Amino acid sequence: MTRCTRRALIRGAALAPLAATAADRLTGPAAERYFPGHGSYGHHTTSYDLSLAYDPAAGTLRGRARIRAVAARPLPEVELDLARLTVRSARVDDIEVRTRTKRHKLLLTPPRPLAEGAPFTLDISYGGRPGPVRTPFGAIGWDRTGDAHGGTLVAAQPLGAPSWFPCNDRPDDKAEFVFRVTVPRGHHVLANGALTERSDNGATESWTYHHSGPMAPYLAALYTGRFGNDTWQARDTATGRSITGRNAYPVRLSHRARHDLGRQPAMIEAFTGWFGPYPFETYGAVVVDADLDEPVENQTLPVFGRNHIDGERTWETLVAHELAHQWYGNSVSLRDWRDIWLNEGFATYGEWLWSEHTGEDPADAIARREWARLHRGPQNLRIGDPGQDRIFDDRVYTRGACALHALRLTTGDERFFTLLRGWHHAHRGRSADTPAFLAHAARYTPQTPEPLLHAWLYDKPLPPLPPPRPAAVRP
Ligand SMILES: [Zn+2]
Repeated sequence: MTRCTRRALIRGAALAPLAATAADRLTGPAAERYFPGHGSYGHHTTSYDLSLAYDPAAGTLRGRARIRAVAARPLPEVELDLARLTVRSARVDDIEVRTRTKRHKLLLTPPRPLAEGAPFTLDISYGGRPGPVRTPFGAIGWDRTGDAHGGTLVAAQPLGAPSWFPCNDRPDDKAEFVFRVTVPRGHHVLANGALTERSDNGATESWTYHHSGPMAPYLAALYTGRFGNDTWQARDTATGRSITGRNAYPVRLSHRARHDLGRQPAMIEAFTGWFGPYPFETYGAVVVDADLDEPVENQTLPVFGRNHIDGERTWETLVAHELAHQWYGNSVSLRDWRDIWLNEGFATYGEWLWSEHTGEDPADAIARREWARLHRGPQNLRIGDPGQDRIFDDRVYTRGACALHALRLTTGDERFFTLLRGWHHAHRGRSADTPAFLAHAARYTPQTPEPLLHAWLYDKPLPPLPPPRPAAVRP
């Protein structure tokens, strides 16, 4: 089973195609990326401040995006990603500017080119009827749940963020976010980070969330509709601090959701021991009133479908998977989608560690079972560079987790968990790639692990798993 493949909803949806643009012809870092039509290397984003008004009856969104950024080179034109929505006006440094669109690119022309290193601000008013965009991975991004309350969700990995706000849609362009969202009174709004303000405007209510992040655009999330919720406390064993969690779900699923999500505090306690301090200010799971193919690890606020909640913890392994992504995938994000095993191999290994911790199958047993399955299947994929249409291939997940288990068997538990914590500590809040992980692993192990990891990541034939050793999950 693949996980975090972003085929948002099972039901059909009106789709707009996403296609590469002239950015495909860029040279340098862009030319080497998996999805060169997405994002720009012309600037780095510092913050997004999104003011949104959503009308669930009409399905329309009015938005204003104030974006702070820094020019990475002299910029005669600022390039953003935006799909399906119409720009009404745009300003660069408070001066109204001409805009043009080219497929799913929004291009703004300032009065004079921006100088390299210059900070600048964009102020963009836009709107329309948001919806999922067609990608090689299905319809992703903003979507309606189809429930009676007109609920919405965002599941944007990897290319769906432009479906609801103008952004620099690169996994390594991370920024601070503010969301100010106005909905009809009685509807709820959930977004990444902490709720800082909720104001009653009469017929409408405005909800403000702040997330210092930093966060890649594809992990930004917004859910509207009607939710029951509960809050809980978890102890970060690495720091001793208390983390406040909040879950939200359809009211009629409250009993099942509280049970199925009920071990998140214990997961955080265990994961902070294995991976290091929890990287963000808050955490919570959202269950939407729709069937999703898979959950999505949106930062601080992953989303699950109602089909993932049955009151029997059948899908708890996915609850562990999405929590592990907060360290590996969200806090330490990808330099490029080519490095996807750093997200999915690690999150899958988080599932196996949780299984071992709870007295279910030990990680070693799961690894040997998955290894046998991989061995029976085709060995024609390099998970360290799987190709852009194979980033969510199941083997990226399971062979990636097997590679980590092989590293654990080679180094022993103490060095292995020190290595895992050190990887997060070294790259927390930033982006990293596979060569950096190979270099990192080499610093933590007495034997050079590079040939071992190289075979797992860059060779097609499946390497053997080292023999088992007495394993004790830490802490
Ligand atoms: Zn995942």
